[in-house]
Amino acid sequence: MIATHTMPLEAATPAYICPFDQACSYLEAAAKELRLDQGVLEILSHPRKVVTVAIPVKLDNGEIRVLAGHRVQHSDILGPYKGGIRYHPAVTLREVSALAMLMTWKCALLGIPYGGAKGGIAIDPQHYSVGELERITRRYTSELIKDIGPSLDIPAPDMGTSAREMAWMMDTYSVNVGHAVPGVVTGKPLSVGGSLGREKATGRGTMIIVREALADQGKTLEGIRVVIQGFGNVGGAAAELLHQAGAKVIAVSTTTGGVYSPDGLDIPALKAYAAKNHHNLIDFPHTRAITNAELLTLPCDVLIPAALENQITEENVHQVQAQIIAEAANGPITLEANRVLEARGVTVLPDILANAGGVVVSYLEWVQGLSYLFWDEERVNRELESLMVQAYRQVIQQSKVRQVPLRLAAYTLGVGRVAQALNDRGLYP
Ligand code: NAD
Repeated sequence: MIATHTMPLEAATPAYICPFDQACSYLEAAAKELRLDQGVLEILSHPRKVVTVAIPVKLDNGEIRVLAGHRVQHSDILGPYKGGIRYHPAVTLREVSALAMLMTWKCALLGIPYGGAKGGIAIDPQHYSVGELERITRRYTSELIKDIGPSLDIPAPDMGTSAREMAWMMDTYSVNVGHAVPGVVTGKPLSVGGSLGREKATGRGTMIIVREALADQGKTLEGIRVVIQGFGNVGGAAAELLHQAGAKVIAVSTTTGGVYSPDGLDIPALKAYAAKNHHNLIDFPHTRAITNAELLTLPCDVLIPAALENQITEENVHQVQAQIIAEAANGPITLEANRVLEARGVTVLPDILANAGGVVVSYLEWVQGLSYLFWDEERVNRELESLMVQAYRQVIQQSKVRQVPLRLAAYTLGVGRVAQALNDRGLYP
C-alpha cells in the first residue's frame, strides 16, 4: 500500500472503509497491470495540492458557525483541475481526496483535457436556509479564490449542490477579480453561460453505457427491469431517460427510503410527487415502500447505485441479484464486494466510465464558453453520445486484450494515459 503520509488524516473507526485507500488500491492494480515505474506510482498516489479552509458563517438566528471546506487537486498533468463540489454530512478530506483521484482517471479515460479535483463541505444542505447556503458558498469560494480559475481549477456540481451554487461561485469569483468569468465553473444556469443538456448529462451518460452493455449481450433497454438508488440529479435523470427509452424502472429511493412496483414506476409522475413532498417518495400510489437495504437486493436486470459510496459491501453483495451494475455514484461498491461480483461474472460498469457524462458536458460547456458559442441541445447530446460510446468501446477492447474485468480495463486506460503524459512532460526540475 502506498503511504499517504502527506495527507492529514481523520481518525479511522474499525468498520470504516477508507475511500482513499480503496482508490489507491485500484490505482495500484492498474499500475501493476501496466508495469508502471514505482516512482510514477508514488507521484500518482499523492494529490498535488490539498486545501482546507475555515468558513465562518452567520446563521439566520445570529449564531456564528465555522465550517471546514476542502478542495483537493489531485493532478493537472493533462490540463486544468476539474471536479465537483459536494455538500453532504459524510464529507471528509479522505473522501474528497479519493474523489479527486477518480476525476483524474475519468477525464483521461474520456480523452478530455482536464486533471482531477474535488471539493466539499461536511453539511446537510437540508438543514440550512437558502440564505445560509449562499453565504457558505460565497465564503468558501472567496477562501479558494487563488486556487480556482478557468485555466486552473474549474468546480462543478456534485451531491448536494446544483446550478444555483455554481452561479453563486461564479459571481463571487467574478466580483473578486473585477470582471465576469463564466468559465470558472461548469454546471451553471443557462442565463450565465451554462450548457443545454448539462443537467441531465450524468444520467444520460449512464443510460448510454447501460444501453451499450445490454447491446453487447444482444438485448435492448425495452422491458429491462432497472433499480436505482438515489433520485437526485443523477439517479433522477437516469430514471427518466431509461423510462423514456422503454426500460421498466421498478424501484428508486432517496435518503428516506424507496418505492417499488414490479410492473414499473411512472417516473414523470414520481418526479412531480417527489418535488411536492420534499424528496420523500413513500406513499406514492400503487407502490410498496422499501428500505434502501432491500432496494439493493431486489430481483432486477440492472442495478444503478446513484447516491453514496460503499453501498454494496461484503455484507450485502451475496444478496445482490442484478447481472449488470452501473456505478452512477462514485465508489458505490467496496473493494471486497467488487471481487465477489467479478468472480460471479456480474458486469460492473465502473464509475469512471458510467458517470462520466457529467464531466463530458462540463467540458463541452467550457469549450462553448471559451469560444463564445452556444450549441443546441441536440448537438450537445450528440457529442456526449459519441464520447461515451467511444470510451465504452475502448474499455471493452482493453478488457479483451488484457483479459481483465471492466474496472481494471478502464483504470489501465485512464492511469496509462496520465502516466504517459507524465513521462512525456518529464519531472520538474
Ligand atoms: P444529488 O444530491 O442530486 O442526489 C443524491 C440522491 O441520493 C438524493 O436522491 C438523495 O436522497 C439520495 N441519497 C443520499 N444518501 C442516500 C442514502 N444513504 N441512501 C439512499 N439514497 C441516498 O446528488 P447527485 O449529483 O445525483 O450525485 C449522486 C452521485 O453521483 C454521487 O456519488 C456523485 O459523486 C455522483 N456524480 C454526480 C455527478 C453530477 O453531475 N451531479 C457527476 C458524476 C458523479
